[in-house]
Amino acid sequence: MGFNPDDYHTLTLQERVDFSDDLALFRVQSPDPIDFTPGQYATVGLREDGESTPLLRPYSVGATPGATELEFFIELVDDGKLTPKLWNLAPGAELWMRKKVVGRFVLDPSRRHHIMAATVTGVVPYVSIARHQKQALDNGDLDTPHRLLILHGGSRSWELGTYREELTRYAAETTWLDYVPTVSRPWEDPDWSGEQGRVEDVLRKHVDPYDFPLDDTAAYTCGHPEMIDKAQGIFERLGLPDEAIHEEKYFV
Ligand SMILES: Cc1cc2nc3c(=O)[nH]c(=O)nc-3n(C[C@H](O)[C@H](O)[C@H](O)COP(=O)(O)OP(=O)(O)OC[C@H]3O[C@@H](n4cnc5c(N)ncnc54)[C@H](O)[C@@H]3O)c2cc1C
Repeated sequence: MGFNPDDYHTLTLQERVDFSDDLALFRVQSPDPIDFTPGQYATVGLREDGESTPLLRPYSVGATPGATELEFFIELVDDGKLTPKLWNLAPGAELWMRKKVVGRFVLDPSRRHHIMAATVTGVVPYVSIARHQKQALDNGDLDTPHRLLILHGGSRSWELGTYREELTRYAAETTWLDYVPTVSRPWEDPDWSGEQGRVEDVLRKHVDPYDFPLDDTAAYTCGHPEMIDKAQGIFERLGLPDEAIHEEKYFV
């Protein structure tokens, strides 16, 4: 199948917000509204001079459906093919994105309670789900909110990006969201006074007091494969059935 530019949006990089040497938020503008279900991923990349096809990778979309402003929260992989090139881009640069945004990592509407675990950039699907639910409640399109517990881990607090402030704010403003940021290298982040440990280490502590109804609860894991494997074991031991446990592994 040849490359067809009509299958792609050209996005314009508006801003890159750096949280560390290898972690940044890419804010981009699309010429057209993006139709997708919160939690899904876009296929994004660059088409370099002389190359017939763009170099593309999947990235979870941070936005609400119909938005023209999108966010991608990306970790630099030093020996990776695409990410070092993304780090060379300046505002105004063009990115390619397949028009079809896809993926099955979305809110399971058949259940009302949702436990969501993420490492660093893996929080993006949950941010889109939470933003969308907030928007639907504010617009009157949704009466009864789904209850979300989001656990978000990084080595240091600044790796949780702008999403730590955003989700902390939603949690304070609403009754349907609880947000637990956790830091696994607190000795490198002496001002951190929140939860300490990896997501999988603090999961039971935050899930147990809720008394989640198992037949009405779904669990989600997103990001680093090691966290996903460990957290899924915990969800299985909690008694959640396989069909209620969802995963999005960013790499293997
Ligand atoms: C559905 C889906 C959604 C994704 N969403 C995001 C996202 O929102 N943010 C994000 O940063 N990444 C995300 N990824 C990972 C992303 O697609 C790329 O794999 C990553 O950006 C590296 O691309 P690259 O071309 O630089 O490296 P490549 O040349 O493709 O890979 C080099 C090697 O690095 C490994 N690798 C990839 N990512 C990492 C990592 N984070 N840490 C360590 N090793 C890694 C690869 O498995 C490979 O072995 C997602 C992946 C999938 C499958």
